Amino acid sequence: MKAILAAVDELQDELITLLQRLIRIPTVNPPGEAYEEFVADLRAVLDGYGYATEVHHAPTELAPLGQGLPRPNLIGKLAGDGPLVHLNGHYDVVPVGNDWTRDPFGGELHDGHIYGRGSADMKSGLAAQIIAVEALRRAGLNPNVHQSAVPDEETVGVRNAGMGWLVEQGLLEGDAVIITEPFGPDGVGIGHKGAIWGEITIFGKQAHGSAPQLGVNAVELMARYLATLDRELRPQLETRITDYGVTPDNQRSTLSFDTIRGGHATNIVPDRCTVTFNRRLIPGEDLDEARRELLAPLDGIKHDYHELYSTQPTLVSEDEPVVQAAKRAVKTLGLQPRILISAGSDDQRFVVHNAGITNSLVYGPGQTGLSHIADEHITVQDLILGTKGLALTIANLMEAT
Ligand SMILES: [Zn+2]
Repeated sequence: MKAILAAVDELQDELITLLQRLIRIPTVNPPGEAYEEFVADLRAVLDGYGYATEVHHAPTELAPLGQGLPRPNLIGKLAGDGPLVHLNGHYDVVPVGNDWTRDPFGGELHDGHIYGRGSADMKSGLAAQIIAVEALRRAGLNPNVHQSAVPDEETVGVRNAGMGWLVEQGLLEGDAVIITEPFGPDGVGIGHKGAIWGEITIFGKQAHGSAPQLGVNAVELMARYLATLDRELRPQLETRITDYGVTPDNQRSTLSFDTIRGGHATNIVPDRCTVTFNRRLIPGEDLDEARRELLAPLDGIKHDYHELYSTQPTLVSEDEPVVQAAKRAVKTLGLQPRILISAGSDDQRFVVHNAGITNSLVYGPGQTGLSHIADEHITVQDLILGTKGLALTIANLMEAT
């Protein structure tokens, strides 16, 4: 174990330089810029370390916001001993807002912090997963590893052109899968909440605004519907609390109505009103039941229901070998492991539900709270600790067999 930790320390400059190099390619999604450039660059890195590399292009139709731009997936394979460990990260980053004080694509290192879009979520994960394996090799181990870098995690989708498509193609192989999303060097992620994003339209009947009794007012129907949910469903949701820590801190089942539109002019009784909603489910809740609860008050009211995205909650057992291996690794670092699920959703959903690999977890060096924000950054200390944690996790998995 000592040799592994020392090897990560020796590789510190290589680790920082690799992260900076990855941040400097602006893989902004949507629409998915510079994907080919990024994948070619990272492929060269893996080739340099002796991996057998493959690039697989997903059909552009799987990226509705992708403007027809290419969707390459990179896989690097390193044959070795022990269980096949698949290390995965998404390389797309969310767009940049206006309030940055640093160059979002500069990869600037200042005072022990590395700045840039993707520094936390999650090019730090990609850099860590590559250097962790190099540290193991330096320490004399010969791990059996696949590395994958995929697009389009940030734009979700029931299907997607990254991990979702790799799984559909049978290209995700591994006895254990580790996704290096930012949960912090002490965060062991065993799942995420479920979600439904959707749109509900209530229909009424138009009439002159001076004679509302001749019409059916869709805006008023919607108001009553929302009030009913508030009175009847919301108190139930508030009693549903998961036992697991959730990052960011939000252990409840939630429902939020985020946009509303209805009506044409003040002299016309509106014949339709549309809301969009965002429902988040804790593990143990079910998508179909959530849909039923949401639509029950609309019985007998003419309406339309349309989903933009849904995913079941994801949760793997703490007894899974990779979870045990990660917990031990975090303890070896002198940290207390935090068993977490994510309040959002991530590519683990495809690994668990579609590929059926429950021996999977999320462990990566960045901090969730520093993701998607202005001046996104990672501390060099977290980057190194997270890389050590990953290397030790793989070593523990090799030892267990
Ligand atoms: Zn991410």
